[in-house]
Amino acid sequence: MAITDDVLVIGGGLAGVTAALAASDAAEDARIRLVTYRQSTLRHASGLIDVLGYAPGNTDDQQQPIADPFTALESLPESHPYQRVGVDAVREALAFFDEVAGDAYAGAHTDRNALVPTHGGTVKPTARYPVSTAEGVASDDRDTLLVGFETLPDFDAPLAAAHLEAAGAPFDARGVTLSFPGIGRDDAKVTRYAHLLDHDERVETLTGETGAREALAATVNPHLDGESRVGFPAILGDDHPAAVREALSDTLGADVFEVPMGPPSLPGLRLEELLYDALESAGVRVTSGVPVVDYETVAVDSMGANSTAGESETAAIDHVVVDRNGAQIPHEADQYVLATGGLVGKGIESNRKRVTEPLFDCYVPHATDRYDWFVDDVFGEQPYARFGVVPDEDLRPLNSDDDPEFSNLRAAGAVLGGYDYAAEKSGAGVSLATGYVAGTRAGEGCQ
Ligand SMILES: Cc1cc2nc3c(=O)[nH]c(=O)nc-3n(C[C@H](O)[C@H](O)[C@H](O)COP(=O)(O)OP(=O)(O)OC[C@H]3O[C@@H](n4cnc5c(N)ncnc54)[C@H](O)[C@@H]3O)c2cc1C
Repeated sequence: MAITDDVLVIGGGLAGVTAALAASDAAEDARIRLVTYRQSTLRHASGLIDVLGYAPGNTDDQQQPIADPFTALESLPESHPYQRVGVDAVREALAFFDEVAGDAYAGAHTDRNALVPTHGGTVKPTARYPVSTAEGVASDDRDTLLVGFETLPDFDAPLAAAHLEAAGAPFDARGVTLSFPGIGRDDAKVTRYAHLLDHDERVETLTGETGAREALAATVNPHLDGESRVGFPAILGDDHPAAVREALSDTLGADVFEVPMGPPSLPGLRLEELLYDALESAGVRVTSGVPVVDYETVAVDSMGANSTAGESETAAIDHVVVDRNGAQIPHEADQYVLATGGLVGKGIESNRKRVTEPLFDCYVPHATDRYDWFVDDVFGEQPYARFGVVPDEDLRPLNSDDDPEFSNLRAAGAVLGGYDYAAEKSGAGVSLATGYVAGTRAGEGCQ
């Protein structure tokens, strides 16, 4: 017996979750399901929502970050996903995200990118950022103390401070490396730091046992030299980040902010939690830990109805097959969204001969010779970074004849080609905008 829904979203990353929420918003009574296999890149990503930080194709490392991404969107190449959905849809998707994220995120007050310091000491142009990072934005000229920990070598605070100064930040930055009270091992997970602070666990200090928050503030205090803000690696609590920052700020007498780190990323984990809570509140059914492994099609006429012999026809996805520990379970829906990620999420795969979209075998344009898939200059414009399916304006993947592969399949996020999110700093923005459009259209399509 097939499990029946109206919209089925495949992939639980930012694009898939946004598509499922948008479908549920567009079709309130519809049954929306999201099926996802492994962890998405959400928990590896910084938690920042980048719309467009740098113009595509410009590999000059002196390139200035884009101040206003919206003005830059119009001049993107025709093949870019933002061109498919249009600037208005990008705005609508961000407004949709602002509604879902509520006061956990900042940046909606302006069209301009904020410059957020990251753990390498670079500043990142981003459109939406967790409130935990807000006091650290680089356009603010208050002097800054960065605090790193011996047991957390991923964040070298003195080096990051020097990089910020070298990059011309409009403030003085200093960095210190201290020991984190209650943590002696350098293989402790970031969640361990967060847990200690969330629960204000008792820790041993030179002056006896005290709460972790007070102990941390006491460790940092002697190093303050008039700075009015203090930056920490993004480990300041998981369940109660605002309370942890407030407690530290009260004791230090300075504003406190987080510096986004590489994977595993607590701001990424918090964003994932926030999004999955929103799915639950919206009544979206989530089936996780299982892959979609196959599908069946049905011929439909131009109106999408099952076609009878001789009528002009295209294919529609009739149902997909989910593999649950060897049991093949059919899932059928009216509309489908493919949000399985790119080369990282395994939504796009390659071997020595071909680059493929492994689930529906949608067309992925690429050179026949694999030596043309990359250029020797590592920081050059890498063709492989743009590999992905090519959508129409309805975000339906097109075949090599420019016809929709399937009448009821749309694609969103990193499975789409035509952009290099790492170079452009556009990953989450494209996932939000295309997830929003694909989900809305799928929701509208099932009514
Ligand atoms: C390390 C890292 C850091 C990043 N940092 C930033 C950043 O700072 N700012 C920014 O804007 N963007 C960043 N990005 C990019 C970005 O956030 C996302 O990668 C991008 O948004 C893609 O999201 P997605 O939902 O399309 O795919 P993914 O997040 O890759 O999710 C795809 C999901 O689909 C599932 N899936 C795949 N195949 C199947 C199947 N057959 N059946 C069921 N499920 C399946 C996968 O298991 C996965 O859960 C970063 C990415 C990475 C990897």
